[in-house]
Amino acid sequence: MAKKKDVTAVEGVHVRERETEKALPKTLPGAVCWQWVRCGKPGCKCERGELHGPYAYRFERVDGRLRKHYIPKADVAALIAACERHREDGRARRAAHRELTELLRGYTATCREVERWVKTARSSR
Ligand SMILES: [Zn+2]
Repeated sequence: MAKKKDVTAVEGVHVRERETEKALPKTLPGAVCWQWVRCGKPGCKCERGELHGPYAYRFERVDGRLRKHYIPKADVAALIAACERHREDGRARRAAHRELTELLRGYTATCREVERWVKTARSSR
């Protein structure tokens, strides 16, 4: 008999863990998607194309590979919010990085100007 885990194993992507932690993380990478699945049990209606679901999964890239995590129905809204927060954090980090780069560029330009000014002042003594 097929193991319970196989219910959600579709398209070659296997479920690594159930996201059933009591305290759900505030931010999580990846995106939540819904999928219809084939359980693989012989004679099941899904063999005829009547798939089970839809079930929610969180997809994320880990070392270049797609990972898929089953999400219990009760946690779907919280995990969608957690993924959105993670994207928002990323945007904020990138914006802060751009700002710092811009500041550094200005600082470097000022340093060069001072160097030039010092050189000119020395040579005209
Ligand atoms: Zn089935």
